[in-house]
Amino acid sequence: MKQGISYEVTNNTPIFKCSFCKNCTSMEGTNMLGIKRGCCFYFPKYSLVDIKNIIKFKKDFLFNLITKKNVIIHDYFIEVKGTFDKTAYNNFWENHTEDDLLKYGDFDTSLFFKKCFFITPKGCSIDFRLRPHQCNLYLCRKLSKSSKYLRKNYSRERKDYFAYCNYIDITLSQYLKDNLLTLKNNFKQSVNFLEKIKIDNFFFSKLENISYNL
Ligand code: SF4
Ligand code: SF4
Repeated sequence: MKQGISYEVTNNTPIFKCSFCKNCTSMEGTNMLGIKRGCCFYFPKYSLVDIKNIIKFKKDFLFNLITKKNVIIHDYFIEVKGTFDKTAYNNFWENHTEDDLLKYGDFDTSLFFKKCFFITPKGCSIDFRLRPHQCNLYLCRKLSKSSKYLRKNYSRERKDYFAYCNYIDITLSQYLKDNLLTLKNNFKQSVNFLEKIKIDNFFFSKLENISYNL
């Protein structure tokens, strides 16, 4: 079946939109806990640049997020803990076959027993503008292998955007430090402070849509 991937940007938030993800049955996308989007084993970390972008879109999301028990506020980022089913993981290791090991290769199999806090049976429960940038620009192994153009151009765009995020993050954390603010100790003041700071948006490339058979 023909599938596709495209690149979209809203404000300063880019996303690789992949139509294959909905029906993905690849090794990486199949969780051993019976949920779709097995590749959502990530425990999100919101850096200052993510927070800055979210403030523009839906500031309340951040204030609601930090009330959750599994959310840890660090000085300059927010961490959202997911779950790890250790019993199921141990059970897998006691009962795995040679074929299982061949199937997963060098992949860390513990990831297939982890779940992001935001995942639901239908996929990610939050708007892409509320996700950390790593989520929106994820390229799994299956996709990476599917097209030379994607491997080169999408990967380069991702690398450049990540470098931009690192740079902005360092700049924003320095501003907070200079003003004796941390997310951990002064969450509301820090968010209000970040809201007022001006940052340069990333200079986004135009990427071709890709169609492919997987
Ligand atoms: S990112 Fe890759 S592994 Fe994950 S659901 Fe999409 S196609 Fe499947
Ligand atoms: S935030 Fe959404 S896209 Fe990111 S890992 Fe969690 S469920 Fe997946």
